[in-house]
Amino acid sequence: MELKNHLHIPSPVSEINTSWSKDHNVRIQLKRDDLIHPLISGNKWRKLSGIFSKFNAEHFDKIVTYGGAYSNHLVATAVVCAIQKIPCKGIVRGEEPKERNALLQLCRLYGMQIEFISRAKYMKTNRLYGVFDRELFIPEGGACHEGTLGCTHILSETNLSNVDQIYVSCGTGTTIAGMHSYLQAQNLKIPLIGIQVLKGSKYIEAELLHRFNIGNCIIYDQFHEGGYAKTNAQLIDFIHDFTVETGILLDPIYTGKMMFAIKQLIEQNAIESGKKILAIHTGGMTGWLGKGEELNYLKKTPHNIKDV
Ligand SMILES: *Cc1c(COP(=O)(O)O)cnc(C)c1O
Repeated sequence: MELKNHLHIPSPVSEINTSWSKDHNVRIQLKRDDLIHPLISGNKWRKLSGIFSKFNAEHFDKIVTYGGAYSNHLVATAVVCAIQKIPCKGIVRGEEPKERNALLQLCRLYGMQIEFISRAKYMKTNRLYGVFDRELFIPEGGACHEGTLGCTHILSETNLSNVDQIYVSCGTGTTIAGMHSYLQAQNLKIPLIGIQVLKGSKYIEAELLHRFNIGNCIIYDQFHEGGYAKTNAQLIDFIHDFTVETGILLDPIYTGKMMFAIKQLIEQNAIESGKKILAIHTGGMTGWLGKGEELNYLKKTPHNIKDV
């Protein structure tokens, strides 16, 4: 299939060696879904792959989807649709701004039609998932059953024989739901742990139960760092240090918070010495396009290559 030539699948797994993982004797493997494509965020591709199977099987003509103005999902959908020459429309929450941000400009470059709608109208319609004429509607974030089907491949293409625990960040819970269904289908009992990136006590647990009927994932809801898409100096410093130590950039909204949580769990011995964990780098690099000013938090001086 044409699309496959544009994507790096199966994505590789990197061994992560940081001072804190070595100190505590925890082995971290990172599934590099960030490498699938520079603009199609890793797990957004996984979700879209399931949704496009439906699109192709049922011969739709057009995609219509939803997102906030900084949505990785909208960019991913625009790129996938351009590769497949499928017309697409992105419905964006809120009033039309005077200037479009870099993510929405990317959507336009890839040919997506953009429409802004009021928050009130958006709230009423964004969870609609279904068919209107020959248009396939995809809810915000690709959060639907077909989205979970695509996410089963994150684990199906990964060797899990030496893995004690699996970590992934959660926004809607669709990605972890797909991973969960894979483990269940394979009868694998590896604990699957979600890091909730938005504020709200037991929010993802409730979503998993109500939307996907899943009751046995472990979700930590205390590592959101102030709320969805919020950042602070500690988080940005952590991402900086991780990038310098490993050469792998995390995003500020999802994977940065997941890895920062893993570090804290290791330091609190909630992840014990000797454990081997698999963390999923779900991508999200386009998130930095909306977060440039946050780099002002970074107080560290650039390190001198000669000193390394
Ligand atoms: C959207 C996104 C997530 C959240 O995935 P859900 O399926 O909504 O839980 C995680 N990581 C990245 C990089 C994302 O862009």
